[in-house]
Amino acid sequence: MATVELKAVSKIYGTTIRAVDSVDLSIADGEFVVLVGPSGCGKSTTLRMIAGLEDLSGGTISIGNRIVNDVPPKDRNIAMVFQNYALYPHLNVRQNLSFGLERRRTFKSRWRGIWDSTYRTQRHAERLAITARVDAAAHTLGIEHLLNRPPRELSGGQRQRVAVGRALVRDPAVFLFDEPLSNLDALLRGEMRTELRILHRSLQSTMVYVTHDQEEAMSLADRMVVMKDGIVQQIGSPAEIYERPANRFVAGFIGTPPMNMLAGSVTADSVGGLTFHWNQCEFPLCKRWVGAELSAIDQNSLTLGIRPDRLMIVPIDEKQDSPSVTGHVVTIERYGPLADIVALVNGKRVISRTATDALGAIREGDAITLRLEIQYAHMFRADGSAITSPRN
Ligand code: ADP
Repeated sequence: MATVELKAVSKIYGTTIRAVDSVDLSIADGEFVVLVGPSGCGKSTTLRMIAGLEDLSGGTISIGNRIVNDVPPKDRNIAMVFQNYALYPHLNVRQNLSFGLERRRTFKSRWRGIWDSTYRTQRHAERLAITARVDAAAHTLGIEHLLNRPPRELSGGQRQRVAVGRALVRDPAVFLFDEPLSNLDALLRGEMRTELRILHRSLQSTMVYVTHDQEEAMSLADRMVVMKDGIVQQIGSPAEIYERPANRFVAGFIGTPPMNMLAGSVTADSVGGLTFHWNQCEFPLCKRWVGAELSAIDQNSLTLGIRPDRLMIVPIDEKQDSPSVTGHVVTIERYGPLADIVALVNGKRVISRTATDALGAIREGDAITLRLEIQYAHMFRADGSAITSPRN
């Protein structure tokens, strides 16, 4: 186990492509950290630099307090699991698992065993140790029954387990995962996620994991690092990032369906109350925004962010004390107990996630009133940064 420390790490391809831009990140011993962001945000490059598969253009990377910038991958005490499994097709599962552990036997060493009995004994002990490690890893991952099969006779999920097993037997200080579940179907991905969490809990190893899938990141991470255009946008626990996104990008990227972004403006009345104006609608902002830094910024270009599950469906003729908007339903998508309603309010789209039971008789095309649970709203400046409210 080890800490991993990135200080001002950058990667520039050619002269112009700034793939990773001055990333600072401290990963604690035994922590499960997930790098997440859209395709091309620099997460794989960051992981590959930790692994030693890419040189740095700037900054330093330390593993276990040792700067490893110039240390080759094999000497970094890391193991990497790839999306494409990278198994040897001509070796069976046991051989795939033990491959990295077997000391390379040269022609000389093969002959040496004939006349050097100490060497022979040593080799035998090593082989027993390797067999024990492979057996233990196979047991942990539930693939003992597959040990004699070649990779072509395995399902995608089984192959991925073998790929994880190959990292496991090496007992590395740090595990690195590069989108390891992307090739699996949704059901299996869910199962493997759970298994990886359990594995992490039992090994308590440092793990760094890359994915573009924000749900996967949320479900796996102790801490998430959200990236965009090579720049870290926010680092925090899944709950922190979901509840207190640092900016509009993070707020829109994390959460399904994405947060509704209502671009509008704020006015203050004579007694200090605040009203948000959006798309010919007006709603009073709850008290927690009064006294926030709202007064000191450009009030004409603000965005109010509200998650779909905070936009609640209400009976059309019910008098509303809290802010609400009225529009009509474009589509309803049902996911078992939950349903997503896409509605148009004065020509602008909003999404509400609701309990299917609450839909009642509402059909596509019907008029609908949606109540904003404004106390859960987020507010963003014109440059996208979040305005911290007193609640935060
Ligand atoms: P992600 O893993 O987030 O999808 P990458 O780290 O693979 O993103 O890539 C980050 C950026 O660097 C992208 O713009 C990508 O096109 C670029 N890039 C990655 N590898 C190379 C390379 N070998 N040569 C040039 N550009 C690259």
